[in-house]
Amino acid sequence: MMMLEYGMDFKKGKGTDMEGQIALADRMKLIKPSPTLAVNAKAKAMKAAGADILNFSVGEPDFDTPAHVCAAGKKAIDEGFTRYTAVPGIPELREAIVARYARDRGWKYEADQVQVSCGGKHGLYNMAQAMFGPGDEVLIPTPYWVSYPPIVLLAGATPVFVPLSEKDNFDLTAENLNKCATGKTRGIILNSPSNPTGGIFSAKALAVVAEMAMKRGWVIISDDIYDTIVYDEGPLAHILDVEPKVKDQTIILNGVSKSFAMTGWRIGYSLGPKHVIAAMNKIQSQSTSNASSIAQKAALAAVEGPQDFPGMMKESFVPRLDYIVKELTSIEGITCVKPSGAFYVFPNFTAYYGRKFKGKVISGSVEMSEYLLEESFMATVPGAAFGADEFVRFSFATSMESITDGMKRLKEALGKLD
Ligand code: PMP
Repeated sequence: MMMLEYGMDFKKGKGTDMEGQIALADRMKLIKPSPTLAVNAKAKAMKAAGADILNFSVGEPDFDTPAHVCAAGKKAIDEGFTRYTAVPGIPELREAIVARYARDRGWKYEADQVQVSCGGKHGLYNMAQAMFGPGDEVLIPTPYWVSYPPIVLLAGATPVFVPLSEKDNFDLTAENLNKCATGKTRGIILNSPSNPTGGIFSAKALAVVAEMAMKRGWVIISDDIYDTIVYDEGPLAHILDVEPKVKDQTIILNGVSKSFAMTGWRIGYSLGPKHVIAAMNKIQSQSTSNASSIAQKAALAAVEGPQDFPGMMKESFVPRLDYIVKELTSIEGITCVKPSGAFYVFPNFTAYYGRKFKGKVISGSVEMSEYLLEESFMATVPGAAFGADEFVRFSFATSMESITDGMKRLKEALGKLD
């Protein structure tokens, strides 16, 4: 048997870079570190060092998972429900999801049209891997959720950014879509209510998307993860209601992370045509195998059980939303579209770009977020992370006391700029 002389052969061998370190795959060049990380890492370090940090950067509800959901998770452990499950998820959870959609939305799916994944994010990853590849372009309305472009890029496809404008309340328009669509367009990712803008797409905009998708054979990915957190009166417009004919070319993404304050349990789900879900199951079978058995039982309790929790959570956000928008828009130069859903505000800070603090220019959203963190101990997410440098994202899923204090600190910080 040949022994490998480890150090030497390894250093000189194939798969190492010029310094003799392990060379990374080419795809790593496709993805940049998120600008959120810099602010986040700094915020954590400052907090650890004892600073009084107000955190407006979190993307999760400030609620505990409901007790009956936790109890179902505990019961699963106690009963030994701790093994691999079926790749697409336990049948009872998929059935419950089907029943929920039939009851709440009147949309008919079968259990083999549902995949349960390790969070909504992995559902999107499975979709992109299953449907997109080199040469494909995927339309992403911008500002976008941070993970869409990397997920598309990791599938070898190309994200194409469709600019949304603050003056249109971040709604899609036929004009913008037409400018970005090409013969290579394979699909579009819709997110309504949106992270980061809190905007929702109007029925009119969705009708335009549906018409273009039908004519050109696009796939529609509808990320509905915030669909229980809607502030506007009346039902949330959805592309499947606006144009039911697109159902066979639409994949829905949803989950319990936001609606039931279950971000750490990692349960998302996707609904779509059988062959797409089957392809996504193939990817899942060769990557994560299945979502956690315990978390699936907990999610079952969430989906099947009492549905008052998401509404209660939403009601608690209303005064915070009203207050933060009122305060932000009272600051000279700042504009802020009132969110229709989710728990983020996305004010425009461009009036302050180019201003200085101690000689250092605040040239964009990254510098603004850094300044707010360093000078006012407020963690926010720069708009650049969402493809929109004019803005800074504040999550209002934090206490009213923190929001009140934060708005005071923000006004003081902006007042100090030269
Ligand atoms: N879509 C959007 C728009 C989100 O904001 C998030 C969570 N930040 C997800 C999907 C993924 O959620 P999960 O935690 O279930 O992976």
